[in-house]
Amino acid sequence: MKIGVVGCAGRMGQMLVQEIINTDGCELAGGTERSGHPLLGKDVASVAGFDPCGLFIMDSAVGLFETADTVIDFSLPAATKGHLDLAVKFGVKLVLGTTGHEPDQIKEIAEAAKSTTIVKAMNFSIGVNVLFALTEKLAGILDDDYDIDILEMHHKHKVDAPSGTALGLGEAAAEGRRANFADVAVRGRDGITGERKAGDIGFASLRGGDVVGDHTVVFAGDGERVELIHKAASRVIFSKGAVRAARWVSNQPPGLYSMQDVLGF
Ligand code: NAD
Repeated sequence: MKIGVVGCAGRMGQMLVQEIINTDGCELAGGTERSGHPLLGKDVASVAGFDPCGLFIMDSAVGLFETADTVIDFSLPAATKGHLDLAVKFGVKLVLGTTGHEPDQIKEIAEAAKSTTIVKAMNFSIGVNVLFALTEKLAGILDDDYDIDILEMHHKHKVDAPSGTALGLGEAAAEGRRANFADVAVRGRDGITGERKAGDIGFASLRGGDVVGDHTVVFAGDGERVELIHKAASRVIFSKGAVRAARWVSNQPPGLYSMQDVLGF
């Protein structure tokens, strides 16, 4: 299977190139970068720390979409529409890891998925997706007597809180309880907050050091506590998940799929 990477010189792009080269049955189809990027024209594999492969970083994605079976995109929301159009035009499957799309852009993705196969996930880590599924299941099993709080810790450079993954876990918990997430989410506590309300889903965020991403979902009952924990040690979990998704899409008809679909939950 020939897999291409747009944004191949980025932090995730380089890891994706490494993962494709290291995965049996996958062949690197090439890589692109934005116009003006200082690494344009360099060898795609060399930039990712491997021996040269003879494919050079281009600023046009047309050639890549002409030759690839699947393209992986971890770049910028502004680049998504162009890549969707090319995926539809050339019948190429798309694994979309870019985050931060506006509602109009989400609609464009759904529209393109009527004609081609797209896997989109905010978090491609296999472990985090297992955590999502377990959180939803457990929230459905344990009723409101078990208070749910979600604790996350990230490195000191992270600018937003709670993390997108923590919010996704809260949504999964609300889904498991058939509750409306916006009605039950308590995104921070400070001062005299009053007693906790049954059914609330609380969040707490820690920041410090170089922590890649820790998430704990706590179900606290009277006399016992159940905790689901995921700890990320490296961003390689995202590239491994994305390449797994790229292999999975090869047999799928057009549609918009999630990482949960890839993993068969
Ligand atoms: P980065 O800035 O290191 O890399 C992005 C790359 O995309 C850059 O090299 C940039 O030059 C390139 N780019 C921008 N516009 C382009 C275009 N039109 N064509 C080709 N390349 C273009 O960022 P990053 O840390 O690698 O993250 C990239 C994206 O992936 C972000 O949206 C981030 O939130 C997302 N991300 C998603 C997951 C997930 O699991 N879904 C995990 C990690 C990061």
